[in-house]
Amino acid sequence: MTYFKEKIDPSILEEDMEELEIIADMDELELPILPVRDTVAFPQIVIPLFIGRNRSMLALEAAIVEKSELVVVTQRDVEIDDPSTSDLYEIGTECAVGRMLRMPDGTTNILAQGHERVQIIEFTQKTPYLRARVRRLIEENEKTLSTDALMRAVLALFEKCVQLNRNIPDDAYVAAMNIDEAGWMADMVASVMDFTLEQRQQILDTLDPTLRLQRLSILLAQELDVLELESKIQDQVQQEVDKGQREYFLREQLRVIQGELGELDTQLAEVNELRERIKEMALPDETKAKAEKELNRLSIMPSAAPDVGIIRTYLDWIVELPWVTATEDNSDLTEVARMLDSNHFGLPKVKERILEYIAVRQRAGSKMRSPILCFVGPPGTGKTSLGRSIANALGRKFVQVSLGGIRDEAEIRGHRRTYIGALPGRILQNMRRAGTTNPVFMLDEIDKLGSDFRGDSSSALLEALDPEQNHAFSDHYLDLPYDLSNVLFITTANSLYSIPHPLLDRMESIEFFGYVEEEKLSISRQFLIPRQLDEHGLAEVNFNITDNAIQEIICHYTNEAGVRNLERKIGQIFRKLTRQLGEHKAIPKSINRHSLNKYLGIPSFSKQKLNKEDEVGVATGMAYTQAGGDIFPIEVALMPGKGGLTLTGQLGEVMKESIQAALSFVRSHAADYQIDPTAFEKQDIHLHVPEGAIPKDGPSAGITMATALISAFSGYKVRRGVAMTGEITLRGKVLPVGGFREKLLAAHRSGITTVIVPAENEKDLADIPKKIQRELKIVFVEGMEDVLKIALVMDKG
Ligand code: ADP
Repeated sequence: MTYFKEKIDPSILEEDMEELEIIADMDELELPILPVRDTVAFPQIVIPLFIGRNRSMLALEAAIVEKSELVVVTQRDVEIDDPSTSDLYEIGTECAVGRMLRMPDGTTNILAQGHERVQIIEFTQKTPYLRARVRRLIEENEKTLSTDALMRAVLALFEKCVQLNRNIPDDAYVAAMNIDEAGWMADMVASVMDFTLEQRQQILDTLDPTLRLQRLSILLAQELDVLELESKIQDQVQQEVDKGQREYFLREQLRVIQGELGELDTQLAEVNELRERIKEMALPDETKAKAEKELNRLSIMPSAAPDVGIIRTYLDWIVELPWVTATEDNSDLTEVARMLDSNHFGLPKVKERILEYIAVRQRAGSKMRSPILCFVGPPGTGKTSLGRSIANALGRKFVQVSLGGIRDEAEIRGHRRTYIGALPGRILQNMRRAGTTNPVFMLDEIDKLGSDFRGDSSSALLEALDPEQNHAFSDHYLDLPYDLSNVLFITTANSLYSIPHPLLDRMESIEFFGYVEEEKLSISRQFLIPRQLDEHGLAEVNFNITDNAIQEIICHYTNEAGVRNLERKIGQIFRKLTRQLGEHKAIPKSINRHSLNKYLGIPSFSKQKLNKEDEVGVATGMAYTQAGGDIFPIEVALMPGKGGLTLTGQLGEVMKESIQAALSFVRSHAADYQIDPTAFEKQDIHLHVPEGAIPKDGPSAGITMATALISAFSGYKVRRGVAMTGEITLRGKVLPVGGFREKLLAAHRSGITTVIVPAENEKDLADIPKKIQRELKIVFVEGMEDVLKIALVMDKG
């Protein structure tokens, strides 16, 4: 639609209309009438009209022929095709016909330019087309203050409507703004608004410009209400749609981009697969929430983003870690006992403890906290292998970590994810390997932590091992509480000395002792030999290894508390036999002690540590070492000097202190052993303890050193075949020692016949096998005098 500010300039009309005159104003005219159904023509406004009806066409043609204008009147009822006079409104608009186009469908399209309102006074002709006498309604253009105010109000309302209604072109408002006649403005605005025909006609019918503006402003306000509501609803709908759709659109966009880059399928497939798995898994709520958060992060990341790998690895960990899966414990006590016995000889205490554990667990269920066991004993005594066999017997998974090489906390508790290549610590790594929440978890060499442990690692371990805390173990990498409370932790140590105290407190220690010869023989017969035969593929071969031969290996080819080297030596023999078989050589039916040389070479250990005869200045001590028990000589040499003391053999501080104590005792008791008191000033002392035999519990060599010193100064010989252990006080009292059993076993192994031990250790006699008690002379002593009575040959001759 076009808006004319001035009355139409005939020159812009079609050429054939150029001569159209504007008919002079007169009060009454007789003009053709053009009824229209779907619009209302307003003065001064150009509107397009479609002429289809024959009567209308004739009216148009008449106007053209007469070079007159015609009156456009709206029908009251749109439906009527052939309206009679009463079907038309009374007020219409006198229009000039502008451009006329005939359309392909037979209709005609014209542009009509409104001139004046007219009132139909009387119809003068009804066929073939309508004509009527009409009166022009020329309006006064009087402007009062109130019309001015009304015009502004209408303009303001109209502006808002234009903003909200997209159907109204923006320039309509500009046009309205430039109109300074009240009536014209009302007509113009009414002509562009989406009003109903009735509403428009109402405006047309209102002859008083001020009243017209008032009515218009009411209509505009109503319309504005509707428009505002509409826009509000639309906004809301839009918002709702936005939320859901925005993300969808973004994802779609991303998908398309990723698709273009060829990254899409694999990553999406992976994310979906992970999402499915996580959805199906029974995870603790916190874990599930975290996993989903990470999944969402992952799903919107381009696959080249550096974090993708990190998140994926993290999610893999969550998926792979056991959160609820557990194995059912074998609750048949006799069956468990049988299985334990079938793998290990002896070890009654440990086996009993395990059976108790199962029994209590059966009654108390998972209410019972798993104990943390600590197996303490020399190497090769079956600690690790028993752990494995406990797992077997219970029907649990078995995992093992050696703490020996572990340096810092992160190895136990993992690195935070911010570190490149971060991983969970060993505890969780092994839980993943186990795949169940209740494996038997072996922590080997917990006593090796102390020496090179860094940071707060023992506290990390403490958290894992403390039944009070381990239901929510925190790993830096996982960053989620992980329940370790169903794990049966078993730690192993060679000795309790170097286990950090807080750790020791949490554990229940069970001692593993070194084996005596007979036990080793039984273990070889029942377990080691069958296993080695099997491993070497010799199970079917008919040959025999005699008890003598095994005993020979035990005594002369190995020197250990456990059976690890023994098993190795047996393996060595079988390896050679296997090779002989492979070379189609005959193998002996039986291997006895005399044929051992062939397979194992010459014996590496003899009882040569023992003095061949009684000697001055050399005493034999018994030590408790990493490898179990051992005996060792302490040598003292005196030379002319000024009372100096030289110590060799890399002695520790405790050892040095106990040498001083021994020396002080000797000096204060010099007279008792006929030692010249001045001898100490005139001579230098050199005391040597062979390296490798340094006892772990330093002070227990006290009486041995005192004996060697007294022998050296007094010249009395030390009896051969005697070994001793005991701490000495300045007054010569003998204090108890640790590792009693291992020391006695070692002495017995080495061919010692008499051992001198502190009286207070008598309580440990129960641990000593009867055979050893029979074969060893065990002398309990309270003071140094008793030691010397036994150890020294008081006859210098
Ligand atoms: P540790 O962990 O105490 O150093 P291991 O468990 O490694 O010792 O044992 C070493 C070897 O000795 C294993 O092959 C084990 O089967 C065997 N062994 C140790 N003690 C026994 C025993 N009481 N009965 C059967 N075999 C044993």
